[in-house]
Amino acid sequence: MKTNAFVLIFVSLLALPEAKEHQGLMSTLFVQKSAEFYSNSVGIYNSAMDKLPELVEDENYTAALEQTSGFSGKPPAVILDIDQTVLDNIAYQARLIESGDYYPTGWDAWCMEEKAYYIPGVDKFLDLATSLGVEIFFVTNRTANLEEATRNNLEKLGFTFSKKLDQLLMKDEKPAWTSDKTSRRELIAKDYRIVMMIGDNFGDFVNLDINRSPTTNRNNVASMHDDMWGHSWFMLANPAYGDWEGALIGFDYRQPRAEQLKMKLKALDQQK
Ligand SMILES: [Mg+2]
Repeated sequence: MKTNAFVLIFVSLLALPEAKEHQGLMSTLFVQKSAEFYSNSVGIYNSAMDKLPELVEDENYTAALEQTSGFSGKPPAVILDIDQTVLDNIAYQARLIESGDYYPTGWDAWCMEEKAYYIPGVDKFLDLATSLGVEIFFVTNRTANLEEATRNNLEKLGFTFSKKLDQLLMKDEKPAWTSDKTSRRELIAKDYRIVMMIGDNFGDFVNLDINRSPTTNRNNVASMHDDMWGHSWFMLANPAYGDWEGALIGFDYRQPRAEQLKMKLKALDQQK
């Protein structure tokens, strides 16, 4: 009996896939498995829900840097990013670890499966915004070919889209809609007062020149907006990827992974 059990364990171990080093392992486990990530995400959305009613009431307030005048009479809107802000794609990151690949391998196929979950807490936020009469816009750098799948995924989770309005603004859907989300925020600002923005990447709040600038500058500009964070700007933690990572490797994702790793190690600050 005992011997059989040992044999069983040994055979099971042999059947496990070979352990692979992957730069995404710890961040993926944190997002997927930790009470800590869950609590952080729900906490961010609870805080956003606390703030939303007063921002809707205050006609003299806008959360968008692009919106400088003439907004007080406009109806309120919120802007949310999609990936790791509304939809949780961490299962895709888990697949990359299994296959030893990195983004964008398999990304479009994952999106087309339409089975991402909601990020913890976002469903209640979307319900509250709807009940307050706030228009919801999703400004995402998912590309236009993924619009239908993204819409389907959100509808499967229970989100109801407007029939008369495009609430899902994809990258490259229009020539001006580049990775820089500024032009899409400007477009929304023409008809709405943007009362709140929620994202997981600095570019969900500021323009591309700042977002794709060196780490020190990104951090300096972030600290210049201390009055926005937790007031009308809410940032979800994304330890798996983002332009914070790009900044560490000069935004050159084409260089060999080993080179990228070297640059990341060099960026570590030991305060020596
Ligand atoms: Mg995102």
